[in-house]
Amino acid sequence: MADGAGSRQVVLIGGGHAHVEALDAFRRGGAPGLAVTLVSREPATPYSGLLPAYVAGLDTRASMEIDLATLAPVCGARFVVGDVVAVDRAARLVRLSDGRALPYDIASLDIGIAPDLSRLPGAAEHGVPVKPIARFADRWEAYRSALERERTQPRVAIVGGGVAGVELAMAIRAALSERHPRVTLVCEGEPAASLNPGARALLRRALAERGIAVEPSGAVRLDAGAVILDDGRTMGCDVAFVTTGAAAPPLAAASGLPVDADGFLSVGETLQVQGEPDLFGAGDCATMAAHPRPKAGVFAVRQGAPLARNILLRAAGRPCRPFVPQRAHLVLVGTGDGRAVAARGGWLSASGRLPWWLKRWLDRRWMARFRP
Ligand SMILES: Cc1cc2nc3c(=O)[nH]c(=O)nc-3n(C[C@H](O)[C@H](O)[C@H](O)COP(=O)(O)OP(=O)(O)OC[C@H]3O[C@@H](n4cnc5c(N)ncnc54)[C@H](O)[C@@H]3O)c2cc1C
Repeated sequence: MADGAGSRQVVLIGGGHAHVEALDAFRRGGAPGLAVTLVSREPATPYSGLLPAYVAGLDTRASMEIDLATLAPVCGARFVVGDVVAVDRAARLVRLSDGRALPYDIASLDIGIAPDLSRLPGAAEHGVPVKPIARFADRWEAYRSALERERTQPRVAIVGGGVAGVELAMAIRAALSERHPRVTLVCEGEPAASLNPGARALLRRALAERGIAVEPSGAVRLDAGAVILDDGRTMGCDVAFVTTGAAAPPLAAASGLPVDADGFLSVGETLQVQGEPDLFGAGDCATMAAHPRPKAGVFAVRQGAPLARNILLRAAGRPCRPFVPQRAHLVLVGTGDGRAVAARGGWLSASGRLPWWLKRWLDRRWMARFRP
């Protein structure tokens, strides 16, 4: 990678999955004429695919983190710890919260989602959002330590029954199994509703077999030590983990960039921001207007290589190439007992040890690429 006066300054904002993939693509294929800087809030970024295994006690906290400060230089890039608050297009500067500014010729955003607890009163004070993962891990470890001092039965609520909530519930159940915990998934509607009927049935059975209660009433408020349900009941708990409430991070809208109806950065088929050919977006923070897909790490990962290629093309003054994300993807949901449920598209579903083995192999293989 070039570092001289003639090189094009590329600033990658956020150490998300697409950007670590793009860095790896620059490392493998070279990035002639580019001086790349990665700026992210923390020196390490967690990989959510390994979060359930970490919660279940199968992986250490360090093993689910990608060390950006080490990875970036190995890929020929500079690493800056910083919180980006604006992309100043007029001055062509990426502005940080501490007043620093990074000049750019080309910039890309991959900053994930922002937790939004505003729709569940009391959640900000009494709930523990699952993202940012580092803060969740701190709270999980604090809860485990508190449990060691007490002899009472653990009572854990997970608010939100999407795939992440279901998998987290089973990981927590596995982690606390010796204490016979009471784990409740507060889930308006059916758990893992985004999956096909076969996979949903397998997960329903897995939840029941582990004694995880599924509470179909919605949560309307969190109090200290309690979830208040929409039928007026109060459900006591030691801790309520919240997996709902993902919102667009404010950076795109605050920078005057085009956003979709939910505030996510609007990008075209080349991952360029609409009307801004020197700006790119990938991962959960961006929506491909022509090919909207669920907010999932697998899509962020797949965008990394085309993103790197198009940054190189743009820097060389050549047209960027379109990228069409796949429609269906394999979802592997760990059930906390050395097994997993697999789902793909509208019909494929299976459960057992093989999907779990596959999930572990895929996750570890992916992480190994980012351990220089
Ligand atoms: C419990 C759980 C389990 C999941 N399991 C799966 C799974 O098995 N498979 C799957 O496909 N998806 C899974 N997901 C979804 C997955 O976590 C996300 O889709 C994925 O992390 C999105 O990656 P990203 O690249 O968009 O950003 P992220 O991975 O969220 O990374 C964003 C990075 O940008 C940094 N950042 C944010 N704002 C700023 C800023 N202003 N300035 C500088 N840096 C900033 C952050 O610190 C972070 O390092 C799961 C989610 C959860 C909660």
